Formats: sequence, C-alpha cells, structure tokens
Amino acid sequence: MSDRVIRLAHLFPELLNLYADQGNIAVLKHRAMMREIDLQVTPVKLGTKLMLESYDFLLLGGGSDREQAIVGKELAPYRAELQQAIEENMPILAICGGYQLLGQYYELTSGERIPGMHLVDMVTKPGKGRLIGNIAIEWMEQNGVSKEQSIVGFENHGGRTYHDYQPLGKVLSGHGNNGQDHLEGLQYKALLGTYIHGPLLPKNPHVADALLLHALTYRGLYDELNPLDDQLEWEAHESVLTDLRVTSMA
Ligand code: GLN
Repeated sequence: MSDRVIRLAHLFPELLNLYADQGNIAVLKHRAMMREIDLQVTPVKLGTKLMLESYDFLLLGGGSDREQAIVGKELAPYRAELQQAIEENMPILAICGGYQLLGQYYELTSGERIPGMHLVDMVTKPGKGRLIGNIAIEWMEQNGVSKEQSIVGFENHGGRTYHDYQPLGKVLSGHGNNGQDHLEGLQYKALLGTYIHGPLLPKNPHVADALLLHALTYRGLYDELNPLDDQLEWEAHESVLTDLRVTSMA
C-alpha cells in the first residue's frame, strides 16, 4: 500500500457521464499507480452530502441539458465551499456540461436559463446548431510556464461560452468555447474547464500529469512525477492532429 494517496470525487457519475468521461478516471488511476500513488475514487451520487474536506480533486463530466439542471440545483448549497476550495488551489476538471455549470448560467434556445454555480464569471448562450467534431488546441501558458503542447479530443456542445479568464488554449482546429474567438476552455488556479471530451486524458498524458501534480500539491505531497512510456498515448494524439491536418507541436 502506498502512503501517497489522492482522493478524487467523481461528481454525479450517474448524470454527468457523456462520451466516456470515465476514461479520464481510468487514466488518472493508472498514471498515479505507476508512480506509487494510490488514487482513491469516490462516486458522489445525487442526494449524498458532498464532504469537500474529504477530497483533493473533483471531476465533473459532461451531461445533457436536463441532467445539468439537476446537478446545478444539487450543487448550489456548496457554492461558497467550492469557491474557497478553488481559491486554495483544489484541482477541478470540469468537462462540457460540467464546465458550463461553473458559470452564471447556460441559456437554452428557448430562452430558459439553467443556473450555474457562479464559481467563475462566465456565461453560456445558445447559437445556431451544435459545435461538433475533433478539436486540437495549443495549450496556453499559465503562471508564466509555456506548455508549448497541443491538446486534442472531441467536442459536441450546443452552448457557446464566454469569459475573460485565461483560456485552456488557442484553437488550432475545431470550435472551442464559442466558435468565434478561437479560444477553448478556461484555467484559473487549479481549475480546468474544457469542452474537450475524447475522453480527454487518454490522448493527452501531459494534461493528466498536470492534474495529478495539482492534486499532490493540494494535499501537501508535491513531488516530481517520473516519466512514463507514453508512446501509444502520443501516437493516438498525433493521429488526431494528422486527421485535422495540424502540424505537430507535442
Ligand atoms: N448540454 C450541453 C450543450 O449541449 C453540454 C453537452 C455536453 O456535455 N456534451 O451545450
């Protein structure tokens, strides 16, 4: 048994689970295990109290509009606690529907607004048609550290998201946050919001390790992560870039 433990809460897997977001957890678990870190995953289901102090890392996946509305209501009482955890650098990976829920609201084509948690100043509005397809972005620098690497995956969302935070990256091919400003996702402290499914982490091992490092740091266990043999992962990554005719940056 490892004495290095990271406790991940997978929020509402029975609702937010579109496009194999579970695959992200499998990748995190494996990459942690290879570094003798025990990643303990707790599915937090609807109606269960979210004991935020029991976790070092949160994951919110994608969901349908209906499911998002349920989750938004369920999480509303935790807003202040979640805000504090974000300020204290708790890592949170929020994908698509989960990403939209971080903001003020997600407006549907009907004009109805699904309230978000307002953890960041961000709104999601309707647009014509859905933004679907493979996507590649250039991971933009954060805190002066340039990643100079691409992130690849698949997106499928109706909502168009607007904010003034540091995006996760610049769109090399695909739609991103809103199909207009060529930006994708959001990074604030250790919070990472993105439209990239795929699932995201199997083809982007550098993103998985960045999240593990955030979780180790949050738990006070920061350590270098020894490199793994990621040949297959990078081949999968490169094949998306090739399909999209994007020159490799990885
Ligand atoms: N329901 C949201 C939208 O269509 C998010 C969908 C998703 O998570 N893939 O914009």
